Amino acid sequence: MTAPEPAPAPPTPPEPTIRHVIDRRMCVGCGACSVRTGGAIPVEIGRRGYYEADASGVAPELLAAASRVCPFADESPDEDQVAAETFDEHLPRDGRVGVHGGTWAGRLTDDADVYRSSSGGLTSWFLARLLDTGEVDAVVHVGPTPDGPRLFEYRVAETSAELLGSRKSAYYSTTLATVVAALRGDGRRYALVGVPCFVQAVRLLMREDAVLAGQLRYLVGIVCGHMKASGFAESLAWQQGIAPDDLARVDFRIKDPGASARRYRFGAWGTGATPVSELPGRLVGGQWGHASFQLNACNFCDDVYAESADVVFGDAWLPRYEADPRGTNVVVTRTEGAERVLRSGVADGSVHLEPVTVDDLVRAQAGNYRHRRDGLAVRLADDVAAGQWVPRKRVDPGYGVPRRRVRLVRARRTLSELSFELFERARAAGDLDLYLGPMRPLVREHDRLSRPLTERVRGRLRGEAWRLVRRARRAFAR
Ligand SMILES: Cc1cc2nc3c(=O)[nH]c(=O)nc-3n(C[C@H](O)[C@H](O)[C@H](O)COP(=O)(O)OP(=O)(O)OC[C@H]3O[C@@H](n4cnc5c(N)ncnc54)[C@H](O)[C@@H]3O)c2cc1C
Ligand code: SF4
Ligand code: SF4
Repeated sequence: MTAPEPAPAPPTPPEPTIRHVIDRRMCVGCGACSVRTGGAIPVEIGRRGYYEADASGVAPELLAAASRVCPFADESPDEDQVAAETFDEHLPRDGRVGVHGGTWAGRLTDDADVYRSSSGGLTSWFLARLLDTGEVDAVVHVGPTPDGPRLFEYRVAETSAELLGSRKSAYYSTTLATVVAALRGDGRRYALVGVPCFVQAVRLLMREDAVLAGQLRYLVGIVCGHMKASGFAESLAWQQGIAPDDLARVDFRIKDPGASARRYRFGAWGTGATPVSELPGRLVGGQWGHASFQLNACNFCDDVYAESADVVFGDAWLPRYEADPRGTNVVVTRTEGAERVLRSGVADGSVHLEPVTVDDLVRAQAGNYRHRRDGLAVRLADDVAAGQWVPRKRVDPGYGVPRRRVRLVRARRTLSELSFELFERARAAGDLDLYLGPMRPLVREHDRLSRPLTERVRGRLRGEAWRLVRRARRAFAR
């Protein structure tokens, strides 16, 4: 008698894609996987100065659960799916900004107050209003950490005074891992502010965790171009004489009442040293478009307007607002609650708002859309051609842009990647020139590709015109 044929082995389940996210350095450090797995996946600061998850040795069932809440893993629903589950189905949706109820530009009406914020001041005002009206018990936000070792971290504010004491944008890697794990189940109601991928990660957690879903009442987004590792702040401060180990505090956005909203300064405070400040564009790697110290995750992101947030605030980079040094927000609301809070500020005179169109919103973030839609397609196509795993995105891989732009996308990616290596070397040797020397030609090449000669001349003339306007204003004030 012949032996029976052995039964075919059951197919091996595909490995959860969070593994690829981490291996390919696409982790943004949000911490959702850590919260979902009760800390089995630690999220800590790595050598490159940003938070990263470590899933080594984690059991497959836990990895599968983590993949469902990771904003870059294929097992998690994308922003369109989350928005469809979350917001009123009757609200209009646009492929660029997502679901939208109210679309506004505006700022605080108190001129002294608005200078304490990065842009129009509406983000911190909105969060403070939620506390003052008792809609939430506390707010999860990012603020400076005077006692280090990091310059900024997530924390919880229980009063509006505490919250408003630390406004402004932190272009600096943080994680939600500890703070969300700590608040879970404490019986309090929260609002949380974050960049789009963090908001998406929190929504994904809320889908799976009824306790968190019951506690997190408002998710507030801030528009995000890309996230920076700590090397960004350190390199800008070091170029002004404050070495990384002496750096105590930074302000990424100091407004100049005599200049346009775009001409904000970067300020740094060292231990015992005189504070310094400079226009970031005058420092190597300081221009936003250079993407120095940009997290690799941001090369694979397609969400500009925090499409899963109840409300999102950004900068109104439109000609009619840019000239105003006070700064102006763009705002998109997606729930009745968020719209009501905003309008309460108009009703009591603390907020000025005017309607803008969806096209205005897109124009206000034109560079972001080039990077996150056209640029993303190119990066995906490059990686697919190189046989590498890429996450499923709402943008298809492809080279549908002029050749010059393809080269620019690649130049920016190289510049970004090398900034980490060069700075690490410079830090280890205590010699800033090991960073600045090789970065300069990379920056020049990037600028050559990004702006044709005519545009560069036009930019210089515009700068000259502004200088004359400022000089005239000063003379007039005297
Ligand atoms: C990494 C990063 C990139 C950005 N890129 C763009 C961009 O490309 N285009 C654009 O229009 N806007 C961008 N922004 C948003 C912009 O810088 C302003 O934060 C936003 O317009 C709000 O300004 P405001 O005056 O209303 O806020 P403020 O009144 O100054 O309050 C800011 C609020 O945001 C919170 N916050 C600050 N940093 C973080 C952070 N890292 N994570 C979570 N919460 C934080 C603070 O806790 C505070 O409550 C970015 C912000 C960050 C943090
Ligand atoms: S992106 Fe967030 S959820 Fe995904 S691996 Fe990193 S920390 Fe975890
Ligand atoms: S660019 Fe995208 S991935 Fe990067 S921090 Fe901003 S929202 Fe997250």
